[in-house]
Amino acid sequence: MKYRKLGNTGLQVSEVGFGTIPILQGNVPVLPNYYNLEETQAIAVMEHAYHLGCNLYDTAIVPEYGDAEIKLGKFAAKIGREQLIISDKARFFSGNEIYQAVEESCKNLGTYADIYFVHQVDPENMEEVFQKDGALDALTELKACGKIRFAGIASHYYDVLLRGASDSRVDVLQASGNLFERGMLERIMKEPLFSEKGILVNKVFAAGLLPAFFSAKSLIEAVLSYQKVSCALIGIGQPWQADAAMGWETKKYSCPPFSYILSVLEKEFDPIPCNRCQKCYCPYGTEIHTIFRQYHYYFMGKDYWALRKLNLGIQQSAEQCRKCTIMPCLSACPAHIRIPDEIQKLEKLVKDHPIWWD
Ligand code: SF4
Ligand code: SF4
Repeated sequence: MKYRKLGNTGLQVSEVGFGTIPILQGNVPVLPNYYNLEETQAIAVMEHAYHLGCNLYDTAIVPEYGDAEIKLGKFAAKIGREQLIISDKARFFSGNEIYQAVEESCKNLGTYADIYFVHQVDPENMEEVFQKDGALDALTELKACGKIRFAGIASHYYDVLLRGASDSRVDVLQASGNLFERGMLERIMKEPLFSEKGILVNKVFAAGLLPAFFSAKSLIEAVLSYQKVSCALIGIGQPWQADAAMGWETKKYSCPPFSYILSVLEKEFDPIPCNRCQKCYCPYGTEIHTIFRQYHYYFMGKDYWALRKLNLGIQQSAEQCRKCTIMPCLSACPAHIRIPDEIQKLEKLVKDHPIWWD
């Protein structure tokens, strides 16, 4: 295992971090498979990763990640708190709520969190998070009184992360990306503002789907080839998964060309050549990169989940495209994707599977 500097925090984090979703128990609406591990089993898996060199463990408040936060606290007590870097988060956007969430997390962990993220910040809740007395101000206060060491923003949206990168209250950002959905990582690499921040990356396996097409090692190497990334977070629920993610060394990281990734996926289905750069914008509210992701996830194995999500708005989006005359999305897309045509195809895909909604 190698270690990288986490922005300006002074921390050195393992290049591969332990995502705790797969060790949780409880009924939570998260994507990856999990194994319903008892506490002793969960602690054994975390310890296995620790002996492979992992020092960063990422969790979320109960019940967001079930009881994973409590299990991580017990593991930290067992192995020695100072040996680990605990990254925690909660989906609260006001100052009051995140303040209480951190108090609750500290109780669950039995210790402080090294990094605490406002989780799932999106364009709709961003203002509340960044405004005076919002979640970021509260995290700054909590830092000052030693309840957490560093404050972070976790988001799937480039514009939110960019705002975090320009804000001195933010120490660490948690972004998402992988060798297919690499557009955001490419933009982060080109933007100097991100150089000051620690960057963790989740969705490296695309919710567990990409390992059917690429090895764990190549998926992790691809994300770590982006120099500003400090740590690739991998959900781990079994010792063999820790071995696959952490039990190897490499001298040089590389990310295969996007055309190669498409050629591999094309053997199974017809991928849209969208790398989720998020440069396209629809004034009528269609989140283009998200619905393309759901299309890909449908073919890569999350069929029920993806169709359910698509069904929530694809018909309205397709209707809007049929009426749209300006089509600003087209000129914004560097990949020259025929976005409205693809949206019509997605609408047909959902229409052809009515049984799912009965
Ligand atoms: S063509 Fe469709 S997706 Fe593109 S801007 Fe118009 S309504 Fe939005
Ligand atoms: S459709 Fe084009 S602009 Fe939009 S996220 Fe995908 S690649 Fe980027």
